Amino acid sequence: MKRRQILAAAGVGLAATALAGCNKEAETAAKPQEGAGGETFNWKMVTSWPKNFPGVGVGAERFATLVNEMSNGRLKVKVYAAGELVPALEVFDAVSRGTAEMGHGAPYYWKGKVPAAQFFCALPFGPNAQEMNAWLHRGGGMQLWEEVYKPFGVLPMACGATGVQTAGWFNKEINGVDDFKGLKMRTPGLGGEVLTKMGGTVVNMPAGEIFTALQTGAIDATEWIGPYNDQALGLHKAAKYYYTPGWQEPNVTFELDVNIKAWETLPADLQAIVRAAARDVNGDMLDDYNARNMEALEQLKGEGVDVRRLPDDVLTKLKEVAAEVVDASAAADPVATKVWAQQKAYMQRLYDYAEMNEKDIYNIRG
Ligand code: CA
Repeated sequence: MKRRQILAAAGVGLAATALAGCNKEAETAAKPQEGAGGETFNWKMVTSWPKNFPGVGVGAERFATLVNEMSNGRLKVKVYAAGELVPALEVFDAVSRGTAEMGHGAPYYWKGKVPAAQFFCALPFGPNAQEMNAWLHRGGGMQLWEEVYKPFGVLPMACGATGVQTAGWFNKEINGVDDFKGLKMRTPGLGGEVLTKMGGTVVNMPAGEIFTALQTGAIDATEWIGPYNDQALGLHKAAKYYYTPGWQEPNVTFELDVNIKAWETLPADLQAIVRAAARDVNGDMLDDYNARNMEALEQLKGEGVDVRRLPDDVLTKLKEVAAEVVDASAAADPVATKVWAQQKAYMQRLYDYAEMNEKDIYNIRG
């Protein structure tokens, strides 16, 4: 019944403020607190993920649990899997129009609506998680991200990072640059645009559809995240080769979306709790991926998965095309132009530092 009311409300385009009002119950029995502290808020969080999906879906659940616990139940967040309230790729729209107060997804899923969103998410041959986080939280990235989403009534927060992904699962061998010609592959964002320029055909689809598409031959290849998540989707049962490295996504940053009108109804302490929980999940998810990817790859190798490295000439060509694609994508949108100009300059400073110090220790350490 409740779900029907929610769907009906979404259907008639009920304003976010009115909806937020419905979910806000005055807790008259509670002890008086500072400011608006006595109220209880029941919020919905729509996500792009299957229920309790390893890594990213678990991160969304962890966020809700933390908020519920830290607020002593004053802000209750109910997590909806992809498709329960809205489809996986419509999370941003749902939060923007107030169907849900919160959402969790990947910024580049809405690049059709917000081209600049991709730059807060993943760049082919771009930043790793540490570098992306440094830019977002210390280098001016978050201010730009908030500015970009403001016209849509959405407040973004970084809420999860994958670290370096893998190049994906292929049913065709990649021995040279020509092998991308005619390749049908699932990969979103700017990496997908690189594939298109290499002669491939790119499709985007949510997690729940990838296995069947690969198994039936509707696509020849897919990348998803890394061994931990890929194993959970069963992709090793539908493809012959597993390629590294994840050139298309040296990291993907996920986002928490908050409807700004709903956000403004929260007292300052609950706002601080939301921000703290998002920061916690942002770091914790990376820890989860680092540990579980290693374990999952050991298992996949044990099961005989054919793990391969993309050839050097292929990676060199992909890097060359990626640089063109990222610049062209930024140039096509005035907001993205502004974001990329700032980000590119900052990232180059981080890359120079990594080249001098981190890269050296990796090379020596082995
Ligand atoms: Ca991916």
